[in-house]
Amino acid sequence: MARRLKHWGWGYEDEQLPDQELRASCAFLAQRLGFGSPEPEHPVPLSEVSLPQPRLKPPATLAEICSTDPYERALHAYGRSYRDVVRAFRGRFDHPPDVVVRPRNEQELADALDWALSAGAAVIPFGGGTSVVGGVEARIDGAQFAGIVTIDVKALDRVLELDPVSLSARIQAGATGPHLEAQLGEHGLTLRHFPQSFQFSTLGGWIATRAGGHFATLYTHIDDLVESVRALTPSGVWESRRLPGSGAGVSPDRMLIGSEGILGVITEAWVRVRPRPRFRASTGVRFLDFGAGAAAVRALSQSGLYPTNCRLIDAAEAEVTGAGDGSFALLVLGFESPAHEVEHSMSLALECCGDHGGEWERRESRGDAGSEAVGSWREAFLRAPYLRDTFVAMGVLSETFETAITWERFPSFHQSVLETASAAVREICSAGSVTCRFTHVYPDGPAPYYTILSPARRGGELEQSTEIKRAASDAVIAAGGTITHHHAVGRDHRPWYDVQRPDPFAAALKGVKAAVDPGGALNPGVLIGP
Ligand SMILES: Cc1cc2nc3c(=O)[nH]c(=O)nc-3n(C[C@H](O)[C@H](O)[C@H](O)COP(=O)(O)OP(=O)(O)OC[C@H]3O[C@@H](n4cnc5c(N)ncnc54)[C@H](O)[C@@H]3O)c2cc1C
Repeated sequence: MARRLKHWGWGYEDEQLPDQELRASCAFLAQRLGFGSPEPEHPVPLSEVSLPQPRLKPPATLAEICSTDPYERALHAYGRSYRDVVRAFRGRFDHPPDVVVRPRNEQELADALDWALSAGAAVIPFGGGTSVVGGVEARIDGAQFAGIVTIDVKALDRVLELDPVSLSARIQAGATGPHLEAQLGEHGLTLRHFPQSFQFSTLGGWIATRAGGHFATLYTHIDDLVESVRALTPSGVWESRRLPGSGAGVSPDRMLIGSEGILGVITEAWVRVRPRPRFRASTGVRFLDFGAGAAAVRALSQSGLYPTNCRLIDAAEAEVTGAGDGSFALLVLGFESPAHEVEHSMSLALECCGDHGGEWERRESRGDAGSEAVGSWREAFLRAPYLRDTFVAMGVLSETFETAITWERFPSFHQSVLETASAAVREICSAGSVTCRFTHVYPDGPAPYYTILSPARRGGELEQSTEIKRAASDAVIAAGGTITHHHAVGRDHRPWYDVQRPDPFAAALKGVKAAVDPGGALNPGVLIGP
């Protein structure tokens, strides 16, 4: 039997820790954090969940690819934010889709879309379902639609064509990170877009949300890797030309990138691929002070060296992840290339770090693993999505928010956001921490990513996290940042996105939506509309 994903959390059902291991893990974490219970709660089994009767019946012609099975409906009801996991863990499914469709090719997708629209349903395009912003939850006015149809594109998962001359690949939207990399790997190529959700998120989802990946500089977002996009809209096919660049007006591919499922269902894209890296170097650099580390990163980001990895982690976060002892901030610095040695770039980058008080361990030449601290951080990074399920079970609130800001405003921005978020955590949870790292850096500013860990009131986590997120989001917008650097807008970030964007732009986007989706059926409530 095929492995099944957990309907409530991260990963497969068979990856859930056995009870004894879960208890040991909770006890260890509770001791390390100083809060949380060593006694875990357990998720409500699906057999005890009651979902409303489906309101729609798919036609016989689509029966083979449609499901109204409770598991499928529960699995597609939410993304994977902390709030999503908490609700699903507690057996609460607020807006399950009535029907889940899994088309196997573009024609089936077109047929499913036609049926859903003619049935008066709202349609939610669905990739890996790893949204952390309410992007796939049908939190919409029920009266307006006859029901909800979720179109899961994961069966469209193939690399269809390779262009080794231009180094591009035509890939279907439902391909998950590992599946897409495995197919490219057969040809010695890679996309090298590794968001933390890589294991389950899809190319179509990355494009729809403008995801941020592996590269800390230069190719930070999927935008930079997309050559052209193809989508099915209610008004026909929207496909942009394959071009290395173009100055022909507002870009039709750029308009689909970040459209979050409101304009069409992305079915495939040409993306820029590259040979796999052969030369790598990575090192951990310690700074006694986060501010000094930030100054070093600014200098690096403006040096023209463009490190592949340049993640500055504050002392508290380094400690939580086991990469430090709380006394220093850690810069995870890395270079890679398929064609040439990178040691020279690393030496220049370290010189720059040294100018700002950075210290590093001796590194092996061409070392891939880098320092021990870097290894610990990488381990923690990969483990984090699974760990969050354990946090929910043991009553630890775990939230994140991320943004970007220009360098000259960063110090005051960081201070104000950190103070506000920390005050909210203290007030709402009585204890806990707010830590920060840079995920991506630009010559004109960093993308800071904040992580909150605090004691949760079991059963009251949703109210707690909503209040904390609201305070943090208000602070980010008030201080001039963006409500999201790469997590997208979805339904959760709408209030702040509405403040951030110019009004004429909102009107223009509404016009575009009305032109391609006159019934407003595609992912209603995301980016614009009620
Ligand atoms: C643990 C964890 C770590 C994460 N790390 C990162 C990270 O490092 N970087 C990052 O950018 N994000 C990250 N995210 C957020 C999330 O993984 C990204 O937003 C990702 O791009 C979503 O891809 P998906 O395939 O899961 O899309 P889904 O969650 O299925 O959908 C997301 C949005 O895109 C739309 N959509 C999906 N597929 C299509 C399609 N084919 N056509 C049209 N619209 C579509 C949906 O309607 C929805 O609005 C993380 C999330 C989690 C839970």
